[in-house]
Amino acid sequence: MEKLSNPQKTIEIIKKYEFAFQKKFGQNFLIDSHVLDKIIAAAGITKEDCVVEIGPGIGTLTQYLAETAGEVVAVEIDRMLIPILEETLADYSNVTVINQDILKVDLEALVREHNGGRPVKVVANLPYYITTPIIMGLFERHVPVSSITVMVQKEVAERMKAAPGTKDYGALSLAVQYFAMPYIAANVPPNCFMPRPKVGSAVIRLTRHEAPPVQVEQEEMMFKIIRASFNQRRKTLVNGLKNSPEIPYSREEVLEALQKMGLPESIRGEALTLQEFAQLTNRLSSPDTWEQP
Ligand code: SAM
Repeated sequence: MEKLSNPQKTIEIIKKYEFAFQKKFGQNFLIDSHVLDKIIAAAGITKEDCVVEIGPGIGTLTQYLAETAGEVVAVEIDRMLIPILEETLADYSNVTVINQDILKVDLEALVREHNGGRPVKVVANLPYYITTPIIMGLFERHVPVSSITVMVQKEVAERMKAAPGTKDYGALSLAVQYFAMPYIAANVPPNCFMPRPKVGSAVIRLTRHEAPPVQVEQEEMMFKIIRASFNQRRKTLVNGLKNSPEIPYSREEVLEALQKMGLPESIRGEALTLQEFAQLTNRLSSPDTWEQP
């Protein structure tokens, strides 16, 4: 079949099935073959790969994935798209479409069934309303994934990649960089989609670290500390932690830990590196270990 990245083909399919775009599902379909080539290149897909696609839409990116990967499993929430996908992907025997909400899929079971539990690559033009829960869900649930290559809102890509002390740096930067190495492969303008989104987009690849870049005994507590530090951006780190119901440490304990790390009382969360958040968490959660010579 002719490629759906040809806008005329996309229009033809949409008319044939009288498909109505659903804003609530973040439906902005790609109609630019150069962008699709860039996504495939950035993800480094080969015939050895099993790819999980989130939100295949009418199958535009899925066609490219089916031609380059060994196997593709595509999870789509909108049941109106299922008969369309049956037609647009009919030529590919290596694609399985699952009609489900990605946030409810047992991804570990899916990876076990389709790739014997070996790491898969996730590739998607994501629905923007759930970008963060999708990405953090994959990392925090420790789903076997070697990389995630996704189209996201440009601002979100910049936040994922941001360094300490910059305006975009925050809880998302730290969470993503704890699990993976981010690389922005392309900026994509609204006219590459149908319908056009109101925001600019970017393709970002997150290559999962084999081992975390920092040692932290209580990973969950570190993320609570990170969230609390950025909740009130203009407050000092000490006050941010003091005001958070998730943090069980007193102002004095936090001050003491900061002092021992050689950091000033007035420091804000945005100045701390991932390494420093890990150290702070370790000091707070097991102070005795740190007192020993
Ligand atoms: N991959 C297609 C493309 O590039 O043209 C469509 C991308 S569109 C931005 C996002 C897709 O994700 C839509 O098909 C939408 O229905 C689907 N979607 C939205 N929420 C979803 C969810 N919770 N689980 C699975 N798919 C979802």
